[in-house]
Amino acid sequence: MQINLLRKFARKVIKPISPIMLNNYFSKNQSKLKESIFSISFDCDMPPDMGVLPNLLELLNSYNIKSSFACIGKWIEKYPRIHRKILDDGHEIINHTYSHPNSVFNNNFFNKITQKEQNREIVKFEELCKKYFDYKPVGFRTPHLGNLHGQFVYPLLEELGYLYSSSTMLTRTKSYGLPYYPSKTNFLESSNQNYSVLELPLMVCPEHYFPLFDSWHCFRSNPPAHAKSGDFVDVFKKAVKIIKKHNAVGTFYFDPADVANCKSFEDSLEFLCENKIKVKTCEEVAKSWVKK
Ligand SMILES: [Zn+2]
Repeated sequence: MQINLLRKFARKVIKPISPIMLNNYFSKNQSKLKESIFSISFDCDMPPDMGVLPNLLELLNSYNIKSSFACIGKWIEKYPRIHRKILDDGHEIINHTYSHPNSVFNNNFFNKITQKEQNREIVKFEELCKKYFDYKPVGFRTPHLGNLHGQFVYPLLEELGYLYSSSTMLTRTKSYGLPYYPSKTNFLESSNQNYSVLELPLMVCPEHYFPLFDSWHCFRSNPPAHAKSGDFVDVFKKAVKIIKKHNAVGTFYFDPADVANCKSFEDSLEFLCENKIKVKTCEEVAKSWVKK
């Protein structure tokens, strides 16, 4: 059977039970928060993302929403002004490596290069942030997340003094909707032997439980899951509702090229605004979590 037909079938099967599974998942958390916390992050790693960044910043500014941007060093070198504007507008820049090793740019993957090269990718990004903006990122996101993210990242980040990573898919973790310190034996859960780097898991689709609620899933997967007019905002509202219900921490992740000019995304920001839902940067979330 073709992969898109299989995917379509799997989505159909999971859709009616996904809300129940997600409710069950979140209900396992021991949240002591008085209210839920939200952050929105963007991965600015592909060439089309660069062109729409000014529009996206304008959109976020119009709603007074501060976000976190996972950027890559090679684009900072090429487009320093627009990256400076991210910081000038009060948003955060996350270290997303220097070259974002992947099959498109350099026929490589972050989890396949040596530890020394991984370290260099992270440090070179920091050097550029220092050089262009006198800025030190405190957060990290593994290029391509998912299966390319792993245990190997945390000792590197720990050594470099990072506050947090935001590279895991929520329902693969045992965080149950809260930030957590990854275990040294299994980074998807906490134990009594943890890394000192906080992990902020990324929100999954409330209708499909397993995949990230990212813009690839919504608009570009085959077939796209939520590309019909108004579908994105409906799913976004469901995601917000379940996070609120469980006083959890919701970290969203989208690609600028998919959402900067998307009406349904703008409607989602409008929804947050109308409901007076405060959006924090990932850095603010991590810092307030550490302080607790
Ligand atoms: Zn979905």
